[in-house]
Amino acid sequence: MKLTVLGKSPAWTDAGGACSGYLVEGEGGRPFLLDCGNGVFGKLRLRRDYRDVEAVVISHLHADHLLDLVPFAYALTVGPDAGAVRRPRLIAPTGADSFFRHLVGTWDSEDLIGRAFAIEEYEAGAELEVGGIAVSAHAVPHFGPTHAIALAGEGGRIVFGSDGRSSEQLAAAARGADVLIAEATLAAPDPAPEQERGHMSAGEAGALAERAGAGRLVLTHISDELDADRAIADARSSFAGPVEVAAEGSAWVV
Ligand SMILES: [Zn+2]
Ligand SMILES: [Zn+2]
Repeated sequence: MKLTVLGKSPAWTDAGGACSGYLVEGEGGRPFLLDCGNGVFGKLRLRRDYRDVEAVVISHLHADHLLDLVPFAYALTVGPDAGAVRRPRLIAPTGADSFFRHLVGTWDSEDLIGRAFAIEEYEAGAELEVGGIAVSAHAVPHFGPTHAIALAGEGGRIVFGSDGRSSEQLAAAARGADVLIAEATLAAPDPAPEQERGHMSAGEAGALAERAGAGRLVLTHISDELDADRAIADARSSFAGPVEVAAEGSAWVV
């Protein structure tokens, strides 16, 4: 299985970048997207034909993880092959259907997402098969319901931590991952009381990777306005394995 970064920005896009989005390609199955934040659809088109995408898996219902479902939906419903393309699966958390209707309903297009995609809502703990890969969703604490997404292929396991503070739930989801893709939104740990924290620093991500016994740590959801070298050094202060900052086009094969 191969995972390629399409976008790694936090909620405000890097210069020329895209928000959360990863292309996952299994051995025999069709490709799928993990998150589809703003900018991701254009980045996908640089690499693959969007008509080949089997599914989009959404980690949580925040703008930077889903807004490019809108241009993707327009391509599928009014693009040159509209009607001839199989509807991709849209695998999203409970409440997603109503959320999408409300979002696109603000310009009177309530059924846009539902016409373009076959929506499947999932609950925390869900175990699915997507593109020949076993996909599982693990609830992690953030601002609102959020899921770390674990991908298990024949060669190993990649865990995307989604957004969230450092937590036992995330450490459990990431246990033994060959590659842990963890957010590092903050330049330093959030001083707020633990229950109010929604994001991690690179240092916290490193400590989490160590606790989880991950093989490799990839820092993501990190702005190009932060110092990448410092983030790597912070993570390395508690994690002995390889650390890198996600970049558009970075890929890992397990
Ligand atoms: Zn986010
Ligand atoms: Zn979020």
